[in-house]
Amino acid sequence: ATPTAIMVGTGLGAKRGVLFKTATALETSARIDTVVLDKTGTLTKGEPEVTDFIAVGMDEKELLALVAAVERESEHPLAAAVVRYAVARGATALEASAFRNVPGHGAGATVTRRQVFVGNRKLMVAQGIDIDPVSTQRQTLAATGRTAVLVAVDGKTVGVIALADAVRETAEAAVVALHDANIEVVMLTGDNEATAQRIASLLHIDVVIAEVLPEDKAAKIKELQASGKRVAMVGDGVNDAPALAQADLGIAIGAGTDVAIDTADVVLMRSDPLDVPIALRIGKATVRKMR
Ligand code: ADP
Ligand code: MG
Repeated sequence: ATPTAIMVGTGLGAKRGVLFKTATALETSARIDTVVLDKTGTLTKGEPEVTDFIAVGMDEKELLALVAAVERESEHPLAAAVVRYAVARGATALEASAFRNVPGHGAGATVTRRQVFVGNRKLMVAQGIDIDPVSTQRQTLAATGRTAVLVAVDGKTVGVIALADAVRETAEAAVVALHDANIEVVMLTGDNEATAQRIASLLHIDVVIAEVLPEDKAAKIKELQASGKRVAMVGDGVNDAPALAQADLGIAIGAGTDVAIDTADVVLMRSDPLDVPIALRIGKATVRKMR
């Protein structure tokens, strides 16, 4: 590698807010054939908002107060959105005790002596709670691309909350540009299959790997590598850090968490998905100059 080419490539990137941390990162960018994108916070803005709150067989205000009490204890972005919604609706503030966070699933707590769980289908299944009473609502909401979260009180599913997270304006153009460069595009998310499929089809993404637990994201990258692919992983969350480290090239969204930024080989300061194909193009141009 000629130092001049590396300097030019690094400079070109920096001008666009694409920070290559090392010369190796720049060179690896030239050889990527598969880009794996996290959904929440990477393809979407990561600012979810509650669009629907459905109580089934229970008073809506009462349920909202129970849910908000649990979510106030959680640090998850979905939890923050639920709390904002509850506050806007003037929900009664209740105390939660025995709070537990279940990564990739949801959370639970005791509120006014009732056992409240808020999270995905996996959480309910793990708790032995039947999801049939709300499964129609869950599927209808997920089919629109919204994240459907279930609520159970004392072992019964009694609610569904739908949250929408706007897709970043340039996400589709980024996928198109990657395809034009003959790069396969994969979405990797902890969100449910139907929600992920809907957003993937809007963005023309080839492959969807959904309902992946935070600790399993790196293993999914490893599987792709084992099948001979040279993989770049793009992510923003604490959840994504092991996958960013495992990938041949880890790319962090600048607006993401410190852990993701520290782990990545490349940082996109403008948090713009279009900078992913641009980073790979700069890598290719650099390597061409080196020959
Ligand atoms: P992602 O990979 O999309 O960032 P996570 O792995 O953090 O998502 O969570 C996966 C799923 O678990 C979420 O889509 C949601 O259904 C559920 N979940 C996790 N934490 C919470 C919470 N505090 N409240 C509601 N749902 C939650
Ligand atoms: Mg994310």
